[in-house]
Amino acid sequence: MTKMRGDGEGRREYAKSMTESCRKVQEALEHLASIDLIDLCNEAKVEHCRAARDLRSCGGRVQSVLTSCGHASLCEECSQRCDVCPICRVCIPKTGNRLSLRLYYECIEAGLISKRYDDRFQEKDGEKQPVADVERLYLFFDVALENNLLSLICHYITDVCMDESAVSSDPVVVLLLDEVVVKDWCKRIFKNIVSLFTILM
Ligand SMILES: [Zn+2]
Ligand SMILES: [Zn+2]
Repeated sequence: MTKMRGDGEGRREYAKSMTESCRKVQEALEHLASIDLIDLCNEAKVEHCRAARDLRSCGGRVQSVLTSCGHASLCEECSQRCDVCPICRVCIPKTGNRLSLRLYYECIEAGLISKRYDDRFQEKDGEKQPVADVERLYLFFDVALENNLLSLICHYITDVCMDESAVSSDPVVVLLLDEVVVKDWCKRIFKNIVSLFTILM
């Protein structure tokens, strides 16, 4: 009897965690589907914490943006002890929701992007910086492809890559805006399909 009740509870717990992860997946996909495509570059870009710490900058990975100004300028720890955003000097509120997760980390939380994959980037950090940014953009494309959001990639090509007015002073964003980046992703996908066929035959 007790065992049965235990099972029921376990099942309820399981159902609850499933609903929770479904919600995370849905929220992340909605965020991805509704994002301004120029912003997709910014979301892909690896950002490092700009807070001063022991006479140099902290440099930690920035996983969230400040809700007060939208800048990805501080890591979680530094956001606790800083009063203003290091980029725009806008005050960070002491209470309430000060941080909101960046799309890339939202996708990791939802399980749409593998955490293991991300850890591998962290190791390479520094030496091949733009590679990580491009890979992160590709991961967004992969998520879009796997979740029936193919139009996002098409719009990225027509609205971002082919738009002459889409420019940036940031060299990493300029690289991400270039259509070569999307072409390489397409080539990679195509290669995967071809190799899948060879295995099947
Ligand atoms: Zn920091
Ligand atoms: Zn700011």
